[in-house]
Amino acid sequence: MDVELLSKNWVMKVRFAPSPTGYFHVGGARTAFYNWVLAKQAGGAFVLRIEDTDAERNREEWVDGIQEALTWLGITWDEGPFRQSERMDLYSEAAKSLYAKGAAYYCVCARDDVDARNKAAGAKPGYDRYCRDLGLGPDSGGALRFRVPLPGSTTFSDLVRGEVTFDHENIEDYILVKSSGAPLFVLANVVDDIDMGITHVVRAEEHLPNTPKSILLFEALGAQLPTFGHLPVLVNEKRQKLSKRRDRVAVEDYRKLGYLAPAMINYLALLGWSPKDDREFMTVEEMIGAFDISNIGHSPSFFDEKKMAYFNGVYIRALADQVFVQECLPFLAVSTWWHGTDAQMASFLRLAPLAKERVAVLSEVNELLRPIFESELTYDAAAVEKEIVNSANASVILAEVKDLIASLDSFDAASLEAMARAYAESSGLALRRIQAPLRVATTGSKVGLPLFETWQEIGRTQLLDRIARFC
Ligand SMILES: [Zn+2]
Repeated sequence: MDVELLSKNWVMKVRFAPSPTGYFHVGGARTAFYNWVLAKQAGGAFVLRIEDTDAERNREEWVDGIQEALTWLGITWDEGPFRQSERMDLYSEAAKSLYAKGAAYYCVCARDDVDARNKAAGAKPGYDRYCRDLGLGPDSGGALRFRVPLPGSTTFSDLVRGEVTFDHENIEDYILVKSSGAPLFVLANVVDDIDMGITHVVRAEEHLPNTPKSILLFEALGAQLPTFGHLPVLVNEKRQKLSKRRDRVAVEDYRKLGYLAPAMINYLALLGWSPKDDREFMTVEEMIGAFDISNIGHSPSFFDEKKMAYFNGVYIRALADQVFVQECLPFLAVSTWWHGTDAQMASFLRLAPLAKERVAVLSEVNELLRPIFESELTYDAAAVEKEIVNSANASVILAEVKDLIASLDSFDAASLEAMARAYAESSGLALRRIQAPLRVATTGSKVGLPLFETWQEIGRTQLLDRIARFC
């Protein structure tokens, strides 16, 4: 294996190496994007590697989910996806070579035995290196542990955190291969990084304690060390680490709500990094131009869903009307009243400039268009109660405006508005006072798109029918 390593070409090569143990996480998306940007900047390669050696915790749908989410976000890979489950021979070969070199040894201790010895000796928890010099062989049926060189320390220069040192006294002789023969993360991860010629390992901060273990393995396997960088954790508004139990973290969930991929990427890229001129809205090309990993901060980054929604709204408003309509179609498809007819498409396109201003995520368009296309209108009962039933002027306003609408020469938003203004003036009421009962009667709700544009799309016959229900 070592000979093969030396023949690798050391161009810049990064990897994204998720474990498919859950839905693809926004933190994973950020890590993947930074790696992808580094590769693009250097003209290097981005490798996708699925670390699926833990068969019990992995699911095939999550493997697919990772690839779909990356593709949707525009994060493309140059090599892979490699599956660790298909590369087990490599790990067992590396384990054999480490044992043969004396860099690893077999251990037959049960966890209880280790705990009992630590307790008796008043020592801290963790493996006590009991079997280190017992000379047990593979036939012992034990686990293979790495022989951490003692005394000593490992120092490396982290791209984000600067110089970091770990004393070997504090690193236990970690397991490389379980007694079952299953390789553990640190072994499979390092063997693959060596085999794939990875030059830069940029990953989440939670891997920092693994890094000295990785480095010792690279050295024991006679391989060139990659450069490491550890990204700060993402936290919620309570400064807690983002968790799939507490927080909405799956990229797929945001996609289903109607986030635009470029908005999400733009927002996620700014979690921990910002360009020197503090610009916020940037294209991917601009980010590739400006990204500098040494500018990433050390402190946890607040993943603010509200701010991401704001970013999304800005991106939505920048869409051409036609593009906005197209982007909304998959979200409208869940509504029973949406049939995508030419008439509905034309209505939506006319309303698009107004709708774009009023949604933060695309799925919200359903609630905006519903009053126009729903044949059996759904009413907000509280709104009906307040603006119609308990409103002194409502029944008079509804009856009089109904007659005015019926007798209008031309039925369009401008004529409807002129009629309403004239009526408000003649009745001595503010325009918004007359609009309130009319809006509830004709749209079922107190909020929505501008009223007269909505009326124009509802059409005269249906509009009059709706008002008549309350007269
Ligand atoms: Zn042992």
